[in-house]
This record gives sequence, C-alpha cells and structure tokens, in this order.
Amino acid sequence: MDAMDRLTELLSRLNPRLVAHIEKHLRKLPAVRAKIEQDTGDLMQTLERELKPYRDELPSTRVIPAEGLPPDTVLESMAALQTRETDGWKDGYVSGAVYHGDTAHIDFLNQVYALHSQTNPLHADVWPSISKYEAEIVAMTAGMLGGAKAGEEICGTLSSGGTESIMLAMKTYRDRARAERGIRRPEMVVPVTAHAAFDKAAQYFNIKMVRIPVDRNYRAEIRAAAKAITRRTVVVVGSAPSFPHGMVDPIAELSELARRRGVGFHTDACLGGFVLPWATDLGYPVPPFDFRLPGVTSISADTHKYGYAAKGTSVILYRGPELRRYQYFTITDWPGGLYFSPSFAGSRPGALSAACWAAMVRIGQAGYRDASRRILETADFIKTAIRAIPELFILGDPLWVIAFGSRTLDIYRVMDAMSHRGWSLNGLHRPNCVHLCVTLRHTQPGVKERFVEDLRAAVAEVKKAPEAEGGMAPVYGMAATLPLRGVVSNILKAYMDVLYKT
Ligand SMILES: *Cc1c(COP(=O)(O)O)cnc(C)c1O
Repeated sequence: MDAMDRLTELLSRLNPRLVAHIEKHLRKLPAVRAKIEQDTGDLMQTLERELKPYRDELPSTRVIPAEGLPPDTVLESMAALQTRETDGWKDGYVSGAVYHGDTAHIDFLNQVYALHSQTNPLHADVWPSISKYEAEIVAMTAGMLGGAKAGEEICGTLSSGGTESIMLAMKTYRDRARAERGIRRPEMVVPVTAHAAFDKAAQYFNIKMVRIPVDRNYRAEIRAAAKAITRRTVVVVGSAPSFPHGMVDPIAELSELARRRGVGFHTDACLGGFVLPWATDLGYPVPPFDFRLPGVTSISADTHKYGYAAKGTSVILYRGPELRRYQYFTITDWPGGLYFSPSFAGSRPGALSAACWAAMVRIGQAGYRDASRRILETADFIKTAIRAIPELFILGDPLWVIAFGSRTLDIYRVMDAMSHRGWSLNGLHRPNCVHLCVTLRHTQPGVKERFVEDLRAAVAEVKKAPEAEGGMAPVYGMAATLPLRGVVSNILKAYMDVLYKT
C-alpha cells in the first residue's frame, strides 16, 4: 500500500463533511496533486487507445473535403466499420443496448425510416401522417399500461428517449407545483436506485433531490419515502424496474403515499414498460405499477428498448390532459412567428416516430408476449446458474436485469475477465456489482450457455490471480473512496473530451 492509498483508506473512515474539507486542502498539496494527475493521465492514455481504435489505420477528416466524395466510396468505408462493430452485439455479447436486433426486423425498420427520412413533425401541416403515428403510439402505450382502467384520460407525448421522458415529466411537475401551489423551491423524492436521468433533471431544472434508501431487496423504503415528503415535494418517483438491479419498487404503496399528500407520482417504466405487462400475463410475479393505481400520475416507457423500435423514441404518459399542458412550450411574441413544441426538441425526426409505430403494429400483442416469455425464460436459466456459483450472489430477486456481486472476489476483476472473453457487461457500484440486462439477443440458441460457461471461467481465473492489473476495477475502486470522488468526476469529463477528439 503506498502513501496515497493509505491516506485514502484513513480518510474514508472519517465523517463526510470533514473529509470533503480535508480533501479540498489536500488537493492543494503539490505531491498529492502530481500523483493524482499522473495516474489520471496514464488512465486517459489507456482509455484513449481503446476508444479510438481506428486512429492508426484510417485518416481523420478534420476539414470538409474540398470536393465531395463519391457516394459508393463513402458507403463502402462506413460499411466496413459497421461490419467490424456488429458481431459483438449481434451474437449476444452485450448487456442491454440492442433489444431486438434480428436482421428481418432491422431491415423492416430501415425501410420505414427510408420512406419517411425527410419528415419533421414540427410541420404537422406538411406531414399529418407523422402526428397520426405519434398519437397512436401514445394511445397504444397507454392502453398497455392500464390506461383503459385508469378512470381518467391517459394522454402523453413522444420523446427522444428515456432521459427526455423523465426530464419532461420532472419539469412538468415543477411547473405545475409553481403554478398551482406556489412552490418556489421544489423537491423531488427519488430512490437512490432510480436512473441518473432524475439527477440530470434535478440539476437542469433546479429541483432539490431528496434521495430515499432501498431495503435489503433493493426496493425503495416506504417509510423513508413517507418521511421525505414535505410541503415542497412536487413528485415522488419509483422504478418498474430499476436500471441497476432490475427490482420493481413498491409502486402501490409509494403512489398511495403521494396521492394522500396531494403530490404527483412518476413510475419510471423506461426499462419495464414493454415487458412487465406481458410478464404479468405470463404469470410472473409482477407487483402493480401502472395507471391502474390511482396515485400513479405519469409513466415513462421506452419504445426504443423493449418496444423494439429504432433508437431515438420513448413515450411519456400523464393522468389527464391538464397535467400534460405543463410540459408544453409556447411563445406568442417571437418574430419567427407563433411557435410551440410539445417536448425539448424543435425539429424532430419523424422517420423515427414512423418506425416506432411500424414496430408496434408489426410485433403486436402476441409478439411482445412471446418476446417477453423468451427473455424471462433465458433470465431464469442464467439466474439459476449464477446462484450455483459459490463465489457469486444475485442482488435482490430480479426478473430479467440480473445484478451479481461477490463476497470473496473483486467483482470488477470478474467483469474485466468477462470483457477479455468478449462480453460487455454493466459495472455498477454502491454496492459493488455487475449486471446483465437480458434482451432478445441473449435468447438465441447457445448464448445463455456461453454466458454461464464464460462466467464460471472468469470467476475461476480471478480466484487464481486476484491481483491482475488494469481494466475498470481501479476506477470503481477510486469512486468508492469518498475523498477521490471529485477526481473521478474529472476523469469522466476527460473521458468525454476524448470522445470528441478526432
Ligand atoms: C434506460 C433507462 C432510462 C433512460 O433511458 P435513455 O433512453 O437511455 O435515455 C431511464 N430509466 C431506466 C430504468 C432505464 O433503464
């Protein structure tokens, strides 16, 4: 253990406020700073090599070519790169990311996209077909999520993805609370396991984030939620299921708490919206989470995940058109004319909405039910196999997003050993674990068996040599020690700088 590690270890035992204070001063110490900067520099160089694999073989285009290139040349060079990048996800080596991915389905979506590539729903008069598709996507999604049994009209809009759906909903609750309850310093009550998009909304819209802990099963603590609600609370949130551990929060209890206090409740069903209804049909144990619960006032559900649309669409639903009004933007004195838009974007890709509608009507209820059955059965196989590996344990009791950790091994070393075998899993922390989000890619013959085989081998490898170098393990190690979290945040920013290097 070197001096820095020792210091970190000591600091991590102190009170957080004090640590933050010490950290601020410590970082001014030139020796400590130099060490941190050197380590960060080394790490960034390694990451840069991994993130920019084409640098040594292809020229970078930093200037618009003086003369345009022949279309065939452009297509050929782009196709060559895609060919190289396709095998990993196509063969089921990636957690989440591509949720359908069958060639026939992709070709179908591409045809629909090509047909509509020039459309823009901002000009509803020019392309009324796109507003028809969008209205129907919202209606179909509402119907699937208990809309008919809600007792009120369930309405909504399309957005570009789960993050936008969530941010729109949070803005909507903030603005409603300001208009109807005069709340100037809004707060949102959010389980620690809810998606980072809620933190993003809190930062962007100046809403105070009040986090509530989860229980041993990684479900939001009801009593903590009850205590966290104040006169300033504008919304309470629950996930169905959460991104990290795939657990469905106690939505019935949380939404009832919110309803009794006159506060909105948002169910984040970005991940589960297009699986849970069918899982319920199939007899899996799914707690209620949708508009059948009277306290649920909005739901986000991602068509671009298990709705099997192309990337770039999601649905945000509201209980009643009055609530949806707070999402809308209008301006009546802009020299550019009377202007309005329902979501964050102005111009939008109508082709993505068309492809989303086409995916939904092509797949149909039977198709969604069958896809969910295959995913849930594959997940059952994998969960049983993980439970049989003595070094590993599964967090909570999830349906198809399977987070696992270890009491004896560094789980990030296991993740790195899986990466060496071609797998791209998600690293999580607080607590340390890794997850596999099962998609249709994993339901192909042989994939689940290969995952389990590789996982057993990875565990055996780490058991034999627990001290291997490199990979993501050290970064998660740093993030876990309080005094270095500021450093890690800077590393993430440096990472984004790298992404935009040519
Ligand atoms: C994926 C996801 C989101 C965010 O969705 P994006 O489409 O990536 O913006 C939000 N919540 C949950 C539970 C998710 O799984």
